[in-house]
Amino acid sequence: MCGIVGYIGPQEATGILLEGLRKLEYRGYDSAGVATVWEGKLNRIRAKGKLFNLEAKLETQKTPAHIGIGHTRWATHGKPEEHNAHPHFDMTDRVAVVQNGIVENYRELREELRSLGCTFASETDTEVIPNLIERALADLRSTGELDKFDSPLSEATRRVVNRLEGGFAVVVLCVDYPDELVAARQQAPLVIGFGQGEFFCASDTPALLSHTRAVLTLENASSRR
Ligand code: GLU
Repeated sequence: MCGIVGYIGPQEATGILLEGLRKLEYRGYDSAGVATVWEGKLNRIRAKGKLFNLEAKLETQKTPAHIGIGHTRWATHGKPEEHNAHPHFDMTDRVAVVQNGIVENYRELREELRSLGCTFASETDTEVIPNLIERALADLRSTGELDKFDSPLSEATRRVVNRLEGGFAVVVLCVDYPDELVAARQQAPLVIGFGQGEFFCASDTPALLSHTRAVLTLENASSRR
């Protein structure tokens, strides 16, 4: 289990995400990546190995986005290769997810998605999550329920997290909701930081302390069902 960071606010997200990932380096990792929403699209940069490799790529490829998620991975399912590094996207490139921990029932979820025509770009347990969230959003759309919820993205994530078994933390980003980050956890650590018109999330408090001291630990998803 390694590190997650997320940022939404007036500052440029990528620098903040990288700084947060550096503070989580002590947890150990084999690859790293960030995703932002920029010009109506998900933008993703990933690199195998040290954060330095990711930083080198970001020098030429980063976006000035104000929302993003980042991850340092300690592989549990799928080799430590770039295509398995997080963030993972759904097959329509609309939903991005970083995840720590393990989705124990990912095999059956993967089979279910495959039978619905879903294809996968990695060998991770994680990739079922953005695909399930995209489908949950499509369900809300097709049943005319989108307007019933303040945040359809939170509702879709809640429905999906309720189906996941294991210990994990996730942060979700979606091109259709470019002003929202959704976070959830089940046993794995995840904290939320509150700044001036900005929010942070991370696997551990030290990643946020240079920005805010107003930090709370997210409740376990199961205690909210
Ligand atoms: N199970 C996920 C993977 O293998 C996340 C591992 C982690 O916590 O870094 O990609």
